[in-house]
Amino acid sequence: MKETLWERCVAFHGHSCPGLAIGFRAALEGMSALGLPLQPVQDEELVCVSENDACGVDAVQVLTGCTLGKGNLLLRPTGKMAFSFFLRESGRSVRVLLRPIPRDAMTREERRLYLLHGPPQELFVFGKPAFPLPERARLFESRVCELCGESAPEHNMRLQNGKLVCLDCFQDYTRGWFTPVRPATKGELRS
Ligand SMILES: [Zn+2]
Ligand SMILES: [Zn+2]
Repeated sequence: MKETLWERCVAFHGHSCPGLAIGFRAALEGMSALGLPLQPVQDEELVCVSENDACGVDAVQVLTGCTLGKGNLLLRPTGKMAFSFFLRESGRSVRVLLRPIPRDAMTREERRLYLLHGPPQELFVFGKPAFPLPERARLFESRVCELCGESAPEHNMRLQNGKLVCLDCFQDYTRGWFTPVRPATKGELRS
């Protein structure tokens, strides 16, 4: 069973690698921690927030059914090897964080096998996500950009010199300030 699932992930991803094995195990362990059957969800009942956009995310999509297109796979780009899983209905959640593996302790293949078969507690830290469950994907009215004529959902439009413009046409005014991830406020943190 586990072998077939791994092969399915490799087929989707394009190759077999240790990175894919991280996402594979994180998804398996996350689903089991939430008491879910090993089946991809059909809708948005399960949400995954991935903290990286590396190889492992592909295995997470195949195994959990959390996908970019369904809107139940979200990226929180800290670059950490962590995946959080939330159940909408019950509010249950788990964050699965990979423990550091010394680079030179194993060959690439040994690392892949260790990630696939090693004991879960040795591989991962299981905790609570330090950020809230993201709201459901919403539908927005489309608006037409007054500069390029292309339409985009209303929440992605900006006002520029009195014109409604899309993000491509908008000239941002950050002066070097850049916040990739908004830190969660205290009230948002769940215990
Ligand atoms: Zn890969
Ligand atoms: Zn535009």
